[in-house]
Amino acid sequence: MILIVEDEAKIARFVQLELEHEGYTVKHISDGREALESALAHDYELIILDLMLPSMSGIELLRRLRQSKDTPVIILTARDQVMDKVAGLDIGANDYMTKPFAIEELLARIRVHLKRNEPSRSEQLTYEKLLINRGSRTVTYDGVPIELTKKEYDLLVYLLENKNIVITREQALDAVWGFDFYGNTNVVDVYVRYLRSKIDDVFDIKVVRTVRGAGYMIKD
Ligand code: CA
Repeated sequence: MILIVEDEAKIARFVQLELEHEGYTVKHISDGREALESALAHDYELIILDLMLPSMSGIELLRRLRQSKDTPVIILTARDQVMDKVAGLDIGANDYMTKPFAIEELLARIRVHLKRNEPSRSEQLTYEKLLINRGSRTVTYDGVPIELTKKEYDLLVYLLENKNIVITREQALDAVWGFDFYGNTNVVDVYVRYLRSKIDDVFDIKVVRTVRGAGYMIKD
């Protein structure tokens, strides 16, 4: 999930829509202090940080964040805030954009920093004859294509990335639906059922196991 910290509602809304269109999950906070608390409490993949904010400046937020976290941060600065840009990079911003900016450029930089932060993940995930290609986001079983919705795909990938580890419903909810999903953990059960009906039932295999009282696991 990407956090946007920006008090100008129009910019925040625009960036959020563009990012969501690209398939990212996004959280927006307009207040500096609140954003710092959220950034410390959660492991955001990346933070887009405006500098002039209510209650705490972006620079101060970043300084405090860096005491314990190395979440990639792209700062947004106005043209006349050169000193802030320098200060931001000094205290650990990974990149900066000057407002007004082209959204394509911001998207390109986000991709760069997300990639850099990724623990060299492999392009393909497999489980027996089940093959997931992350590049094309396709899933096949023994060469037969399986059509999954985005959430089904994300859940399957998350469980496979954590093979042999029991995943609680809360963990799955956080990873796939995001922290600000309003609903209960039953949604995870529902999506596991969808996966089973599209994979297990069709190919007569057992992919996602239920671990009684704990959650779900894909086990070798
Ligand atoms: Ca601002």
